Amino acid sequence: MFCAALDVPHNFREHLLRTVGLNIFRVGTLSYACQDNRVLQINDGTGKKKLVILGTGWAGASFLRNIDTSLYDVHVVSPRNYFMFTPLLPSVTCGTVEARSIVEPIRNIVRKNGGAFRFWEAECYKIDPASKKIHCRSGDGTNVDGNGEFAVDYDYLVVTVGARPNTFNTPGVVENCHFLKEVEDAQKIRKSVMKCFEKAALPNLTEEERKKNVHFVVIGGGPTGVEFAAELHDFVNEDLAKLYPDVKKYVNISVIEAGDHILTMFDKRITHFAEDKFKREGIDLKTNFKVVKVSDKTITMSNPATGEIAVPYGLAVWSTGIGTRPIIMDFMKQVGQANRRVLATDEWLRVHGCEDVYALGDCATITQRKVMEDVDAIFRVADKDNSGTLTVKKIKDVLGDIYVRYPQVELYLKTNQMKGFHDLLKDKESEELNIEELKKALAQVDSQVKLLPATAQVAAQEGAYLADCFNRMNICEESPEGPLRIRGAGRHRFKPFRYRHLGQFAPLGGEQTAAQLPGDWIHVGHSTQWLWYSVYASKQFSWRTRMLVVSDWGRRFIFGRDSSSL
Ligand code: FAD
Ligand code: MG
Repeated sequence: MFCAALDVPHNFREHLLRTVGLNIFRVGTLSYACQDNRVLQINDGTGKKKLVILGTGWAGASFLRNIDTSLYDVHVVSPRNYFMFTPLLPSVTCGTVEARSIVEPIRNIVRKNGGAFRFWEAECYKIDPASKKIHCRSGDGTNVDGNGEFAVDYDYLVVTVGARPNTFNTPGVVENCHFLKEVEDAQKIRKSVMKCFEKAALPNLTEEERKKNVHFVVIGGGPTGVEFAAELHDFVNEDLAKLYPDVKKYVNISVIEAGDHILTMFDKRITHFAEDKFKREGIDLKTNFKVVKVSDKTITMSNPATGEIAVPYGLAVWSTGIGTRPIIMDFMKQVGQANRRVLATDEWLRVHGCEDVYALGDCATITQRKVMEDVDAIFRVADKDNSGTLTVKKIKDVLGDIYVRYPQVELYLKTNQMKGFHDLLKDKESEELNIEELKKALAQVDSQVKLLPATAQVAAQEGAYLADCFNRMNICEESPEGPLRIRGAGRHRFKPFRYRHLGQFAPLGGEQTAAQLPGDWIHVGHSTQWLWYSVYASKQFSWRTRMLVVSDWGRRFIFGRDSSSL
């Protein structure tokens, strides 16, 4: 998520460049060949490799922002022609920030790089890795027979389609709950919140009916659910309470969480602070409750102590995590990854089981190669003279490569306050070690392998990393910069992807935010809220959205949020 965006307003830059006689758009000659089977074999006539990207979210946009479009014939397929800054989506649900302030047209992002590319607003419904084609469907049905379907061939495919909300097949969720994943979801919630207030203000209602209409239920105590509950609480207290004085006393916000605590991905101190704050503010926190059914009038939840209870509600937001998109499930079956939740890639983001397909962001996860799977090969590589034993010097010669190829080794040393590889050896006096001793020394290091979280931060870093690899493909082919190949010959072309965690925020409402930054730096309060404002303003994709977001915040400070049910 956190890639700097120090670009100037593009209108100004365009004007400047035109004035000095430059054209920032590289216009290629595009030739189309639409065959009988409607495969779009479109190329720019330069013989460049065709690079197709699926999706324009955090991973896709970050890739597009960094790819050198002069090296590839770049095509993008996505059902939405814009990038959306998801961390501010909860703010859109209550009008703290406007929807258009957090989106950037994807064509703007590429154009600012001076790049040429093709964009198709369509959904890819099937990836066919055997014939290197993707099958797409445009909602607009613009081709000859009007069904909007077409196929695109590729040399390289970058899959960044993200994930979909996970309902755990709970009955009635899709029909009755709101999700908070897309801009349209946030807009619908905003409208529904106002409808609930207007309904509760109508004459001739019983107390029960009024209470039901303004009972807002959030299912899921993760960062998104918590942030939405906090936003809604602020909206009600700072704005709506004055406008709906008769309804105010009936408003109730509930957060239902199946686990023991909310915000479990944060440090315990933050979890406890958030829980105490919510309780103080009257937000009804129901932990250890599992929602089992949602009807149009009630939410049924169960708890070992109380059994099943049904509560009437006015609006429900379902935010219990992410699930796999059908296109990914189908693709996983084709590449021998059936029964997985997300696509598995190697540390270079290449999908296991097929050629030239990369996957990043929420739809994929990196499976870090285990040291113990390769320990025999590691021994062979280090034991250059085939003596059957390793000396400390021999290990040192390959240690740098081992650290790069298997980051868990270095992490294990750090976690256990060890200074170097030598500390791993039980018999530190021994000059030499055999394969069994090496196995013993490395036996525990794989415990440090952790899956990366499904966050914007990971997706954006993966996008930038992969674009950089593509940009330097030819250079690194000739002089590889990666670690030694343990099970093959020579070196890997690139260094594997390495995630840098920059910290995380949890806005808790009332101008207070919790921050957990690297180095166990934990802080909650008003000062962190200002840190949150500055970080999120700086991480916007363009100066245009940065200015829009900051002016929305300013407008909210001065005039409050808008309560029209638009
Ligand atoms: P996405 O950003 O979801 O993008 C997927 C793209 O693929 C979209 O453009 C979509 O239209 C497109 N697509 C979907 N299906 C297809 C298809 N069949 N064919 C072609 N294209 C397709 N993370 C943080 O790190 N910090 C936060 O504060 C934070 N806050 C969040 C708040 C909310 C409300 C939400 C929903 C998420 C938040 N996240 C946050 C998580 C973060 O947004 C995701 O991890 C991130 O968006 C993943 O990036 P992605 O590129 O994999 O997927
Ligand atoms: Mg991932």
